[in-house]
Order: sequence, then structure tokens, then C-alpha cells
Amino acid sequence: MKRHILLWLIPLLLLIGCAKAPVTGRTQIIMLSPEQEMALGFQTEKEIFKTEKITNDPRYLLPTKRVGHRIAKATGLDLDWKFYVIENDKIPNAFCLANGHVFVYTGLFKYIDNDDQLATVMSHEIAHAIAHHVAERVSVTQITSVATAVASEVIRAKTSQYQALYEAALGIGSQVGVILPYSRMQESEADHIGLILMAEACYDPREALTFWEKFAKTSKGGIVYFSTHPSSSQRIEQLKRLMPEAIKRYNVCHLGDRVE
Ligand SMILES: [Zn+2]
Repeated sequence: MKRHILLWLIPLLLLIGCAKAPVTGRTQIIMLSPEQEMALGFQTEKEIFKTEKITNDPRYLLPTKRVGHRIAKATGLDLDWKFYVIENDKIPNAFCLANGHVFVYTGLFKYIDNDDQLATVMSHEIAHAIAHHVAERVSVTQITSVATAVASEVIRAKTSQYQALYEAALGIGSQVGVILPYSRMQESEADHIGLILMAEACYDPREALTFWEKFAKTSKGGIVYFSTHPSSSQRIEQLKRLMPEAIKRYNVCHLGDRVE
């Protein structure tokens, strides 16, 4: 009986949860409501404020706000945009929560030569947020676990001897087969959306190439940052492919001064 309910559940879930990513137009499955997604953002933020040290050092906060506000404008989204700097020199990273609150680690600034390069990282992170990547991953994980439950029910009906083994294999399979490629795909998508966003915010998209090439070399692949990210050569190839479109947008941008 349970199996039949589950078998009906998957297409139903897929039907009600369809969305489209900005810029790429990719079809997504998002089961979280906008309210749930926001709540998740605020919950994460509460944890960050508890565990991290926020700094108002203008050397970091001024460029973060200056660049952030321009990218936020380019999204065209009326979120409650806020920009924070976390004091931690060891982490070259940044992230943006679903509520539009962006956090940049001081450790990133070692790799940043100008606003365009800061825009490269911030627009990538903002892209994750406006494409609802966290909500999508939560949804895919939920659906995968429903699918795994269905499969193990089917197996249970057939044999009990190897069931534990099958279930373990299904669990690993769904992690490696579904969740991991998903996160890599989201990383490429954030690069794509981010490149267009930065160009529309009048930051030179060619600086994205300069930044990633330099970052890959000097950070030896990026300690924390690259765990689920595409390899730097794949990333750079994709950026080069998208560059003509990005430059076209940069040439007609109106949110700031272009460097001629
Ligand atoms: Zn990313």
C-alpha cells in the first residue's frame, strides 16, 4: 500500500514544484515555499551571527557595500539587501542567503585587486541566491529520499536477504548520482548568471577570467571554496564561451561607469 502512495507522490511533487532559473531558463524543481526559503535564510543568519565575528572595518565593508548594491540593482529584485564582512583571514569565500543578506570573509580580499574582481565573487554568490539553489538542493534531496524509499520497498517485496546492502547502495548512489552532479551544475549556473549580472552592473566581465585564473593558481585550487566547484579549467572554458554575450551587455550597461 505504502509503495503505491509513494509512486503517486513523485510525479505529483514534480508537477507542483516547477520553477525556472534566471538567465539560463533551466527548469528547476523547488518544493519549498518562498516563506520556507526565507525562514531557512534567517535561521542560517542567526547561526552566523552567533558563531562569526562581523567587522565594520571600512577597508572591507566599503567595497563590499559599493559593489554589492550595484549587483543587487542589476538583479532587478526588491529583496532586503544587506552586506556584511566576516572577520576571518583564513577563508577566501563569500555567500548570499535567500533573504538577500550577503557575507564576505576578510580572507577573500587577499585575492582581490579591484571592484570588478570583487564583483566576480559577489555576483556568483548572489546568483546562487536568486536561482534558489539552496531550496532546490533541499527539494532534490527530499525527492531522492522518496525515490530511494520507493526502490527499497520494491526490493523488500522481492527479497529480504540482501536488503540492507541494497539500501546502503541506493543511499550512496543517490548521493553520488544525483546530489553531487546537482551541486556542480549549480556552480556552473552561478558562474553563468554571475557573469551576466556583473556585466549588467557595469563591472568588466573579463576580470572574472583574470580573477579565477589567479585564484586557481595562488590558492592552489581554493581550500574551502572549491570543494563542490567545477575544476578551474572547466570553469574558465565556460567563462570564455559566455564572454561575448557578457561583453555585449557590458557595452550597453547603465548602472555604473565602464572602464574604457
Ligand atoms: Zn558557488
